[in-house]
Amino acid sequence: MIQRYVFSYIMDLKSTLDELDYTQLEKIINVLLAARKNDKQIFILGNGGSAATASHFACDLGKGTIDYANSDFRRFRAISLTDNLALITALGNDLSYNHIFAEQLKNLMNPGDVVIGISASGNSPNILEAFDVAKKVGAITIGFLGFGGGKARDIVDYHLTVSSRNYGISEDFHMIVEHIITQIIRRVLHEKKQKVVFLDRDGIINEKPPEHQYVTQWEDFKFIPEIFDTLSALLKKDYKLVIVTNQQGIGKKLFNEQQLHDIHARMNEEFVKRDIKIEKIYYCPHLESDGCNCRKPQPGMLYRAQNELPFIIDMDNSFILGDSIRDVQAGKAFGIKTVLFNSNGYAKNNDADYQINSIPDVVNIIDKF
Ligand SMILES: [Mg+2]
Ligand SMILES: [Zn+2]
Repeated sequence: MIQRYVFSYIMDLKSTLDELDYTQLEKIINVLLAARKNDKQIFILGNGGSAATASHFACDLGKGTIDYANSDFRRFRAISLTDNLALITALGNDLSYNHIFAEQLKNLMNPGDVVIGISASGNSPNILEAFDVAKKVGAITIGFLGFGGGKARDIVDYHLTVSSRNYGISEDFHMIVEHIITQIIRRVLHEKKQKVVFLDRDGIINEKPPEHQYVTQWEDFKFIPEIFDTLSALLKKDYKLVIVTNQQGIGKKLFNEQQLHDIHARMNEEFVKRDIKIEKIYYCPHLESDGCNCRKPQPGMLYRAQNELPFIIDMDNSFILGDSIRDVQAGKAFGIKTVLFNSNGYAKNNDADYQINSIPDVVNIIDKF
């Protein structure tokens, strides 16, 4: 019974996430970025769980977006109107609960400011009244709405709305969208774009084991001799190095993740000796038959890198280097250039942007990007 409930909740949440309107999301991000640039205030408000989301949103904009390395960094002026309990209860008690946000806005708001109202029903009277005041002052209004949007949907300038009539699902969606927005803003504002080479491992860094065999221990791992100079040359050209490797042998129980980590630790020792820094190693431990999203040709490991690495990937100048059509397909699906090392000619006639017959040639290829 519990399991079925959990399953249906997660199913509802997943399909609700698919309703995210990317066009509206982008517009809202641009409104917030413009507010920061023009020194405008951003007011965030909601009731109940949405009040908590308003506080959380103001926290993430106010703190989570700052680049502390830059002392001149222009900050967001974000305020949640849900946090002054004295003022809220005074307004609610003496006037009406419907006025708790509108009256605060009258105190603080200037033309060109932004008001974000969060309402699962889209019909909370105090939110509608706040939007009304905002419009009169000449502020930009944004709704995070549920239940199809309610009355608020027709009033606001921009909105992210879900159809779910479940309060939990609607509020989850608003929370997730808040994190998406603040993380994108953080990246846009202070993370330098970085060129990345996604390196396949077997057949690029180390000799490819024979068909259907795996590198299960350090003794099986034989570096391809030219890889050291090649990686050093790429580093000199300001590329960051990330390894993305399918390791189906784990799924087949031929070796375990600890053994793989040991091999990678030994591999890394050799790189460190030569001043070669690998940013991160991603591996897929699954069987091809598992249908995961990380085993190449799926681009899951590259997307994880995009989420986790502390810089924005320069998509125009980054590429994947591999010796298999699967590497090429993963790179294409992610949207970067693809370089195929045609080690023994078997992978010929495919869609790779560039083909090389020796690994050091990759250094000449990148000048043609
Ligand atoms: Mg390979
Ligand atoms: Zn996988």
